[in-house]
Amino acid sequence: MTDEANETMNNKHSPMKDKIDILDRTPEELISDMELLGERPYRGEQVFQWLYQGAASFSEMTNLPKTLRRKLEGKYIIGKLKQLKRLVSSDKRTIKYLYLLADNNIIECVLMKYHYGNTLCLSTQVGCAMGCSFCASATGGLVRQLTAGEMMAQILEVNRDIAGLNWEPVSGVVLMGSGEPLDNYENTMKFLHQVHNPRGYNMSWRKITLSTCGLVPKIRLLADEEIGINLAVSLHAPNDKIRRKIMKIANAYTIEEVIGASKYYFEKTGRRVTFEYALISNVNDNPEHAFELSRLLKGFPNHVNLIPLNENRHSSQKRSQDAAIQRFVDILKSSGVNVTQRREMGLDIQGACGQLKTAYYEEL
Ligand code: SAH
Repeated sequence: MTDEANETMNNKHSPMKDKIDILDRTPEELISDMELLGERPYRGEQVFQWLYQGAASFSEMTNLPKTLRRKLEGKYIIGKLKQLKRLVSSDKRTIKYLYLLADNNIIECVLMKYHYGNTLCLSTQVGCAMGCSFCASATGGLVRQLTAGEMMAQILEVNRDIAGLNWEPVSGVVLMGSGEPLDNYENTMKFLHQVHNPRGYNMSWRKITLSTCGLVPKIRLLADEEIGINLAVSLHAPNDKIRRKIMKIANAYTIEEVIGASKYYFEKTGRRVTFEYALISNVNDNPEHAFELSRLLKGFPNHVNLIPLNENRHSSQKRSQDAAIQRFVDILKSSGVNVTQRREMGLDIQGACGQLKTAYYEEL
């Protein structure tokens, strides 16, 4: 049977397939959908309020007439993620979730409890095409893009879960789970607008951070959107020679181009860019690398986030020794670089990129 015929068969037996994931609709799209359904536009806003307050079914939307609820059931599904695993760190401040998507792909996200609120690190793709040598998400390449609705579903699903713990709903998001958000530009932008929309999840731009391995033209495009989210750029090396050894993307764009795009981002948005730098033993953690990095970052407001490498089974690269990390930090500080060391939250629950999912597949 051809794939097409197979698809038709599946559709015949699964009416769900014809339905639209309502979480993938913007408030504006939903309002125009309402008009097509012969309803008043404000009904779309009511539906949105319900969805973002965590309604998991149309029957919960009690201020909508029954006839409308039935129409909605006929046209949409509310995208759901099935929780496969949930791991709480020993300090009870990090929860890692493994979710099954409707097509049986698996994604993961991590909730981090800070004094200022709960931040969700979410995934933007199943797998990743970028092929960074140290990253577990890159192991199987890119499987597929996530829709905006599937990104939103991660927030809503986690909110339902933490409500049971009496935790506040997610108040910030970082796009640092599996995937390269700028390699899924359109869906990511749609999602960002949905999260920000005052009629949607109503999160301020400043509570959102997007992390990229450095897709230069897309960073410039993002800067031109002038939405003022925080940008984190995975630099991980002080020169192109080292960067090319550990990041495939370094063959497409030089560090100079990456820094140029980051400066442009700052000029357009006024937001200070963060550079992520994973310290890998004897690869990028020598004192001269620290000096080289500080020279590179002179002259514009930025911030370096040092991450001691999370070792994983798919790479022989090792985490820097504590003494090397300290020396690196000291050199950057004394050279006037704004630097922090990433708190290693959730190490005991495989918090690093893609590691829980990889471990899960290996258990099967
Ligand atoms: N594609 C985006 C988001 C990826 S994950 C990006 O490249 O920025 C977020 C951060 O975790 C990135 O800086 C990534 O390089 C880093 N990372 C991935 N695997 C890691 C590991 N094993 N140890 C430390 N940092 C890692």
